[in-house]
Amino acid sequence: MLEENLKVVKTKIDQALQRAPKGKNVTLVAVTKSVTSARAKELVELGVVDLAENRAENLLEKQHQLQDQHELTWHLIGTLQTRKIKDIINDIDYFHALDRLKTAKEIQKRSKKVIKCFVQVNVSGETTKQGISLDGVKEFIEDLEKFDKIQVVGLMTMAPLGEPPETIRKYFRQLADKQKDIAELNLPYAPCTELSMGMSNDFEIAVEEGATFVRIGTSLFENHDEEGEHK
Ligand SMILES: *Cc1c(COP(=O)(O)O)cnc(C)c1O
Repeated sequence: MLEENLKVVKTKIDQALQRAPKGKNVTLVAVTKSVTSARAKELVELGVVDLAENRAENLLEKQHQLQDQHELTWHLIGTLQTRKIKDIINDIDYFHALDRLKTAKEIQKRSKKVIKCFVQVNVSGETTKQGISLDGVKEFIEDLEKFDKIQVVGLMTMAPLGEPPETIRKYFRQLADKQKDIAELNLPYAPCTELSMGMSNDFEIAVEEGATFVRIGTSLFENHDEEGEHK
């Protein structure tokens, strides 16, 4: 089941890449937040090396359980409470949800290495969503210059649930445009070449619009027999 799901997801990514801007490469980040470490390990054994959790303690637990697996890349994709930063920051490779200077300051204080960060952007303007507004991204990133433990590798967003595909596409395109604007500033600490966008419901649209990291959970781990066909 897992192997088949993985194959389907990879094929869809490859097909979407044919319709995407040229020269893009997509990293499949497997979101393991809803499964056990044993399930995550099965996926690793199928060759997936990028794993993500949205909570610090769960990431550390998975990491502990999978410590015999070499060469894994760990992504934290959820907001990080300031007081938890010291417990996790030196154990992750990518942080996808940077949206506050307070967080940046604490990362600077606690990190022993440069952390690859995505600035999270609230493109849709939904009040329930985390992230910097599109208009505020440039200023926020300029303010990050003083933190030499932070490298802004790109921008991240979550599209709202239940919107029609054309609306979701519009949000992804707006994020991609913003990413290009920032990249053109040529800031040494903020190359901003990457786009973390696309989840189970919308990753094909995201890839078509230039995503370089897709974060996928449900489509990999769901059981078709129990839950019915997933669109
Ligand atoms: C849970 C989660 C995902 C994965 O969502 P699926 O719909 O299960 O693929 C991606 N990104 C973030 C930030 C998440 O919290």
